[in-house]
Amino acid sequence: MASLVDGFGRSFPYLRLSLTEACNFRCSYCLPDGYQANGRPSFLGLDEIRHLLRAFAGLGMRKVRLTGGEPSLRKDLPEIIAIAASTPGVRKVAMTTNGCLLLSKVRQWREAGLTALNVSVDSLDPQRFHAITGHDRFDEVMAGVDVALGLGFDAVKLNAVLLRGRNDDELPQWLDFLRERDIAIRFIELMRTGDNHAYFERHHVRADTLQRQLQDGGWTLTPRAADAGPALEYRHPDYRGRIGIIAPYSKDFCAGCNRLRVTARGDLRLCLFGEFGIPLRPLLQSDDDHEALMGRIATQLGLKAAGHGLHQGNSGITPHLASIGG
Ligand code: SAM
Ligand code: SF4
Repeated sequence: MASLVDGFGRSFPYLRLSLTEACNFRCSYCLPDGYQANGRPSFLGLDEIRHLLRAFAGLGMRKVRLTGGEPSLRKDLPEIIAIAASTPGVRKVAMTTNGCLLLSKVRQWREAGLTALNVSVDSLDPQRFHAITGHDRFDEVMAGVDVALGLGFDAVKLNAVLLRGRNDDELPQWLDFLRERDIAIRFIELMRTGDNHAYFERHHVRADTLQRQLQDGGWTLTPRAADAGPALEYRHPDYRGRIGIIAPYSKDFCAGCNRLRVTARGDLRLCLFGEFGIPLRPLLQSDDDHEALMGRIATQLGLKAAGHGLHQGNSGITPHLASIGG
């Protein structure tokens, strides 16, 4: 049977599925002018998602992350979560959200089968949060995080993009935050995309500076699970919380790649910064195409490159991460 292994021996148990390109936030590194719809886009529907997940799971995918754009803007999100959770073979259903609907909806998502949650919180300072995201909603998002922490998720994690001059001085506040909380924070190194060149030049800060600070402070690196995300995770005996670093510019980042992406319009993307998408949508319309769909995914995987071209300033066809499912 075909399986998800590429020409470099990497396997792909982890799928990131974008549910929408739309977003209500205006994060300064992603959609600074807000989401601009291009025509009337039609994103994958429930049956298409069911067919897609069945095919990936048949090829060995065990974890799916729902992302976007902002996935919680989909009215049918609970149904999508339930489809993912009931796909034979799928063991983990995670979601990345800006947290705008967490407070009112997270219980419903958990009941539908969501097992893990990442919430983007770029700063612990409400004013800075407002300045970065365009929304004065820090307290509301954090209240939602507190509710989520009581719902028995396998993991609740926060994501913060490291930004020079905006939030790169907040490690002491994060350490206070993590001391008593069973939560993980992922610091993500800012990635250059098609639309953010000038912003990247101003605000990019290398993650290894932070890694050195952590190591000097007694934080130690923990082993990585096969279906884990891209973060290097650190622990410290004096803290309940954990710290992850996502460093896409680091030497071995692509060697550990274990994930594929499908856009909200049904294109398979072999790399976040690849040069092309492979349309799967024509094969998502009927159960009869199940074998052909698995065949297309497995064959296309042979085209996955060893690594991205970010070091050469090449971010492929990705204008911003909302377009592909970051
Ligand atoms: N809207 C959701 C959210 O913000 O959590 C999900 C989609 S968003 C594109 C997924 C993650 O990508 C977020 O944590 C966001 O901060 C991160 N992100 C977006 N643009 C980025 C960039 N240029 N570099 C690094 N991370 C980025
Ligand atoms: Fe929206 Fe997420 Fe992009 Fe922020 S990072 S603009 S919340 S898609």
